[in-house]
Amino acid sequence: MLPEPIQQCIDAFAKLPGIGPKTAARLTFFLLRSQENDLSNKLAEALLNLITGTGTCPDCFNMMSSDQERCVICANPTRDQHIICVVEEPLDVAALEKTSVYMGLYHVLHGALSPVEGITPDDLRIKELLERIKKGEVTEVIIATNPSMEGDATGMYLQQQLRGFDLKVTRLARGLPMGGDLEYADQNTLLRALMGRQEMD
Ligand SMILES: [Zn+2]
Repeated sequence: MLPEPIQQCIDAFAKLPGIGPKTAARLTFFLLRSQENDLSNKLAEALLNLITGTGTCPDCFNMMSSDQERCVICANPTRDQHIICVVEEPLDVAALEKTSVYMGLYHVLHGALSPVEGITPDDLRIKELLERIKKGEVTEVIIATNPSMEGDATGMYLQQQLRGFDLKVTRLARGLPMGGDLEYADQNTLLRALMGRQEMD
């Protein structure tokens, strides 16, 4: 019934998480109607650059522009090279950076352990974290996984893996809403959780 380009756009939107066919159609017609402000072109350009213009940092696995050798945090010599804050997702880095207090490095796992979803340590960047720590410069690892069952399980697993190393392992203080994502926590809550971090035993 609909012209092919419209149907294609609806089908593509409908493949996104949380977007059903109705919303996909609404978004498509919104774009059609907002032609005058060039939103479709901007969106098309952004989507093309999304893949070609980005990469992951070879050190911490945070997102970076593809024309960089490492992310802006790893490339910054004023960052404290002795502390690594371990998070689940790149957006968690962004959330913690907004507090402007943490000056160490990060390590992005790209997920959390989940037996239900079949996510094992091999699916996360845990091996790479241990490789970084083996270099011997790190004195503290802050576990900043989400306050959820998966986040806690991941934190506990990391703690076990880090037992053999001569370093302090801390966990963000409680106070973050349980089951919530770090990236949605407000700055003050995150700041308190970071400042009040406690050594795991
Ligand atoms: Zn990096």
